[in-house]
Amino acid sequence: MTQIEIAKKGIISPRMEAVAEMEGVSSEYIRKMVSQGRIVIMGNTLRKPVPLGVGEGLRTKVNASIGTSTDIIDFKMEEEKAKIAQEEGADTLMELSTGGDLDEIRRRILKTVSLPVGTVPLYQVASEAKDRFGAIVKAPKELFFEILERQVEDGVDFMAVHCGINRLTVERLKKQGYRVGGLVSRGGAFLVAWMEYNNSENPYYEYFDRVLEILKRRDVVLSLGNGMRSGAIHDSNDRAQLQELIINSELKEEANRYGVQAMVEGPGHIPLDEIEMNVKLAKKITNNSPYYVLGPVPSDVFPGYDHIASVAGAALAAWHGADLVCYLTPAEHIALPFPEDVKIGVRCARIAAYLGDMMKLGRRDRDLEMAVARKNLDWSKQLDLSFFSDEFERIRRTRPPETPDTCTMCGTLCALKAVKRIFENER
Ligand code: SF4
Repeated sequence: MTQIEIAKKGIISPRMEAVAEMEGVSSEYIRKMVSQGRIVIMGNTLRKPVPLGVGEGLRTKVNASIGTSTDIIDFKMEEEKAKIAQEEGADTLMELSTGGDLDEIRRRILKTVSLPVGTVPLYQVASEAKDRFGAIVKAPKELFFEILERQVEDGVDFMAVHCGINRLTVERLKKQGYRVGGLVSRGGAFLVAWMEYNNSENPYYEYFDRVLEILKRRDVVLSLGNGMRSGAIHDSNDRAQLQELIINSELKEEANRYGVQAMVEGPGHIPLDEIEMNVKLAKKITNNSPYYVLGPVPSDVFPGYDHIASVAGAALAAWHGADLVCYLTPAEHIALPFPEDVKIGVRCARIAAYLGDMMKLGRRDRDLEMAVARKNLDWSKQLDLSFFSDEFERIRRTRPPETPDTCTMCGTLCALKAVKRIFENER
């Protein structure tokens, strides 16, 4: 049985218990939310990664995406990126390779980390179609499902499958006059090209029951892909995007009825003033499904610093209800990320998730403790409370103060120390 089937029967599974303990909520809460499709628990039954819950009332999770491209194929580097993502505190990892032997790199990454690992099967469909049939658009329908099965049996824990792009979605895209920034989802672009070339419906939509049957075998979480996501802020929340969201909402319900856990993916590029609306609309339409956003990045003009721009977007999204945020790295929109980019990207996304959770879950205890430690000039406590203690330690070590309980910012004129003396004397 899948976790949602177990939950619907009123049973609390060991994985539900583990998630409840990690999140500090009751096991019954987790069971109820899983049964209603508002929380997913990731974990292919063949692989059993660390238990992880994504959804309502839980800490916002961070995803790091890695993978080769057709230009840079270095399996060792991808393994290093996977390890770094895990060490830096990513909650999930997406293996999105498109270059080299895709089966081999996926299997290696699945062995490298204990995190839940996700994929986008369409990438491999496109890659194999090109190699075997000469063009992506020549992929036979059967290949779509062959790849799905192969990845499920390898132990992949969640899959972004672009089921919500159908003839209606493409129609909306055409009627609205295409887009300022075009289609930026690789899966989305591939599907639209395939459907147009073959004058045929998206196989993942047309035979959605087959998708469900394959994923259900190993309790793989279906992440309903956002193939129409905006790749420019001027395209955010357009009709094609909303059409796909509506279809994904219906498919999500169907998946849950069939016993498959599912979440829905969101964009992309969204200006700050539209993020709250985007998240709340998605939550409302999907009956509070777990919502997975890619960034979002609230501007298009910060290549090199998109990881920082996306902190603003992801924090807002998390605040208003997004449950999983995908990192952006300094290489976003420019090149394939290197290991150092992964490290920075995960750190930035963790900051965003934390900031969002301060508002969403009202968690401010750590900030309170830090404020007291700072007031007390308790440097070891400050180090303990810091998210990134290696940076704290490095900066302090390279600029040691003359008076050990202060820092070199104000030195002997330490404001906290001066005031501390006054207040201590008054007591
Ligand atoms: S020296 Fe200045 S910055 Fe450093 S702890 Fe004291 S008040 Fe804060």
